[in-house]
Amino acid sequence: MLERERGMVQLSTGDMLRAAVKAGTPVGKQAKAVMDAGELVSDEIVAGIVSERLDADDVKAGFILDGFPRTQVQAEMLDAMLTEKGMTLNHVIELAINEEALVDRVEGRFTCSQCGEGYHDRYKLPKVENVCDVCGANAFKRRPDDNAETVRTRLAEYRAKTAPILPFYEERGMVTRVDGMAPMDAVKASIASILNK
Ligand code: AMP
Repeated sequence: MLERERGMVQLSTGDMLRAAVKAGTPVGKQAKAVMDAGELVSDEIVAGIVSERLDADDVKAGFILDGFPRTQVQAEMLDAMLTEKGMTLNHVIELAINEEALVDRVEGRFTCSQCGEGYHDRYKLPKVENVCDVCGANAFKRRPDDNAETVRTRLAEYRAKTAPILPFYEERGMVTRVDGMAPMDAVKASIASILNK
């Protein structure tokens, strides 16, 4: 929604890594087993792909870092690369959500193989069975790491390594908490009001 309505670019390290795995690049080969287990890929690899991506012209209108930084070292590497590139972070948004609800959302989700539209087994099925609402394609896919066991590991990694970096940004007065249990439109409105500040 933010991309569509504000011209911002979503920079998802998960998406970038999945593209590297699919393309069979050296980074993809190194990352695959770690991602399948739900553990974290090395800070150097992830920071490297973000830094390279920030050099493209399309990020100048604003970007959303999705899934990065995930460790204290990554947060420090991000600071260093932004300084070097003359860029600044304006906001850090924490989407707060009950873990059981998160597991339920992740386990049931799937996307259109052609356009990437997101769906869910219970909360958002295509209007016509097996036909994408947006582009009409008939093929859908699921992430191999969206199973209950891997999701639990991903959450444990979040608690151990990612949640502890919030104070790093809180000290700078940058963090706003948004209720991720609210309906999609309400979440979007909350984020929009933060960005409009
Ligand atoms: P995501 O799509 O954000 O859920 O990421 C999927 C997987 O990619 C994670 O479980 C990690 O294995 C890897 N990954 C994505 N972003 C990062 C990051 N910032 N640091 C380390 N590993 C990452």
